[in-house]
Order: sequence, then structure tokens, then C-alpha cells
Amino acid sequence: MPAREYPRIIVPPPGPRARAIVARDAEWTSTCYIKEYPLVVSRGQGVMVEDVDGNRYLDFMAGIAVSSTGYGHPKVVAAVKEAADRFLHICGSDFYYEGMAALCERLARVAPGPSKKRVFLTNSGTEAVEAAIKLARYATGRTAIIAFRGAFHGRTTGAVTLTSSKARQHAGFGPLLPDVHHVPFAYRYRCQFCSGQAACNRGCVDIIEKELFTRQLDPHDVAAIFFEPIQGEGGYIVPPPGYLTSLRELCDRYGILLVADEVQSGIGRTGKMFACEHEGIEPDILLTAKGLGSGMPIGAMISSDSITTWKNGAHGSTFGGNPVCCAAALATLDLVEGGLMANAARMGERLMARASRLMEKHPCIGDVRGRGLMAGIEFVKDRDTREPAAELVNELVQRAFRQGLLLLGAGKSTLRLAPPLVVDENDVDTALDMIDACLAELD
Ligand SMILES: *Cc1c(COP(=O)(O)O)cnc(C)c1O
Repeated sequence: MPAREYPRIIVPPPGPRARAIVARDAEWTSTCYIKEYPLVVSRGQGVMVEDVDGNRYLDFMAGIAVSSTGYGHPKVVAAVKEAADRFLHICGSDFYYEGMAALCERLARVAPGPSKKRVFLTNSGTEAVEAAIKLARYATGRTAIIAFRGAFHGRTTGAVTLTSSKARQHAGFGPLLPDVHHVPFAYRYRCQFCSGQAACNRGCVDIIEKELFTRQLDPHDVAAIFFEPIQGEGGYIVPPPGYLTSLRELCDRYGILLVADEVQSGIGRTGKMFACEHEGIEPDILLTAKGLGSGMPIGAMISSDSITTWKNGAHGSTFGGNPVCCAAALATLDLVEGGLMANAARMGERLMARASRLMEKHPCIGDVRGRGLMAGIEFVKDRDTREPAAELVNELVQRAFRQGLLLLGAGKSTLRLAPPLVVDENDVDTALDMIDACLAELD
């Protein structure tokens, strides 16, 4: 396919075929699905997604930061086909195959920090979070867990307890897991501790010790602190330099395990294999999923050998580490290490530079932040009050879709830019030009 045959809108979406599928879906699928806009996909290639009416879109959301190597990468597809031809399943919790051993070794070796690691494979991010909750409690003999406001850790009952990005994710489901405590995240743009100050004063870390640990919770009852090195669903929030190190030090003072949820930020997206590496910290447990299998369902809990104390049969999974998914993950890691991670860093710089220029032009942009191809543009009604402009982000996303650009919001009023890691200069420029044009229409 010649490179620039996208975006291409030939029928205003949703076209007739899309409308028929949307209607059928609405009749039969469960009522909880969000469905951001009526995109009905028939196929994809690289950063291009084609709908059932023949419209072609430039994808800057990657199926929520999942399609890391783009759509239908020939090396990933070949690995999947080769593995599928041999066997679809045997159950890695009970039997052996090379792909599982190879992927676990590979993830253990690429995870940040010098200590030896072990790996538990899952089908999803939320299952990796569940595994970490269980292992952290098991290994420490403690029950309490600290997580951050705005965090997203998934939707199963344990993981959703740690999640605190939207109240409707909890509404009606209680009681949730006991002994989970939420504290403020290092959200520099809207910080209650250092707003108006020239630099972050680490007030949000201090308060954990000075308030939570003195009035409410004995630190020696805390099993783990779960954090996202860049908050994802919460609004693509990059904490200030030194923050991750402060968390590591806090954990070390009290024997608390530090759990990095890199389900969204990992596997090359930020220009490094894992976002923790930007600050050189080693978490005790690191979680990955989304981009790991290029879209095949696979996640992993990577834990330091010294805390992986649970015994044979303590945890398991029928499908986790499925052989076809392992093959997809190994092929993905080859590509990420073989150039895509470097491309993410390079394209990310271009993206940030272009987004910052947009900020000069459009007063509705309050903040631009990101690392690599995990970039957020936060919209406000007024730069002084910083009142979130939620409706504007929604309008922008819908409008961009109709013009052939796939976007997604995050947090209250942030646009997240998370394209497949295979984007090139032209894709980045096209996406930013389209956002610019949409904003000009909306201003
Ligand atoms: C998406 C996400 C999860 C949940 O992953 P699923 O595969 O949807 O279960 C957990 N943590 C973070 C940071 C995520 O972005």
C-alpha cells in the first residue's frame, strides 16, 4: 500500500455497513461497554485502520496503547501463524513449552535493575495487577496497599479497588478490597502541594509519611505501593524528576514493596523498554501487558527472585502465557529492541515539539507533557483558573474521527497521543495538523 493513502474518508462515518454493525452490537453486547465513537474496523496496516465502509484512519490511540508494532506487522503475524500451526494450547501452569520459558527469561532480563527476576504470565493487565496484590501480601505477610488518586489498575474486583480514576468504575460494586489507601499523585499541573512554586517540593510523598503513616496506617502493615510511572487513564501525567526515586526510598525505609504498573507505559512506548528506567529505579514488581503482544492478549508480572516466595500451586492460570501469545510477544520484543523503541524516542520528540507549538496558538491548551509516544495535551477553559475543558476534548475526539484521525481522551480533559511505535514524521505531522485544524474550527 502506498504510504499516504490515509487518512481517506470516502463515506461520512459511520457509513451504512458500520451503522448496521453498530445496531447489532447495541442489541446484543453487554451494556457496560463505553464505545468512544462508531469506528467499525475491517482491517489495519501499520498505523492505518480501515473501516467496513472503506474509510481509512490514521491511528493515534493504538487500540489504547496496545498495537505497539502497528497493525499486521509481518514478523508478528508470521510468528503467530507459525505458533498456531504447531499447538494452540497446553496450559503453561501445568506443562512446559519453549515459548513460555523463552519469554519469561527475556522479560526477566530486560526488566530494570540488577536483581534476578521471575515472571508470571497473564492474559491481561488487570490479571497482572491481581497477581501482584496476592504476591505482595504473601511475600510480606502484610495486608495494606497504597495506590494513587487518578490511578488505573484494571477492573477485576481487586484491581478496581486500586483504580481511582472515575467513580463510576466503583459505583455499585462494593464492598471492594479492604485496606486500600489512596494518596495524591505527583500531578504537577494541578498539585495541591507545589502549585505556584518553581519546582516540585515532594509534598505529596511527604504527606504519606507525615499524615497517613502517623494518623491512620502503620507503615509496617503496608505490603505495597502500586504506582504508574506515567499515569495513563488518569491523564497521561508525567511526575516531576526525582519523584520515582522518592517513592523507592520511602518503600525502602519501611520494607514496603514498590510495584510499578507499566501496563500502559512499558514495552518501548516512552523511548525506553520501561518508563522506570528514565529515573533508574528498580521496582520490586513490574507489571506489563498492553503493548507486549502487539494486540494478542498477554501480560506479565515480573518480580524480584528474593520476594517470589509463594509456593507451588499458590497461583496459576489456564490460558496465561498461551503459546501463540508468547510467540507474538517474543516477536514484538525483537521489533521493539530492534528499532521501534528508538523510533518512539525520536518521534516522541517531534510530537512534543509540535504539540508545544500548538499550545502557543491555542489558549485552550493548558499543558503539554509526555515521554516518547506517550504524550498528553491537557485542555482548560481558562489558563488562569485551569478549569478542565472536558466537553472540548470530547468534541475534538469526535470531530477528528469524522476527519480520519483516531484519538482518545484521558483524565478529565486530556487528549492522549499514543500511536503505534511505527509512526513516521509524516504521520506525526499529519496528526498534529489535523488536531490544529479541528481546534481552529472549535475555537
Ligand atoms: C489498561 C491498564 C490496566 C488493565 O489492563 P487490562 O488488560 O485492560 O486488564 C492496568 N493498568 C494500567 C496502567 C493500564 O493502563
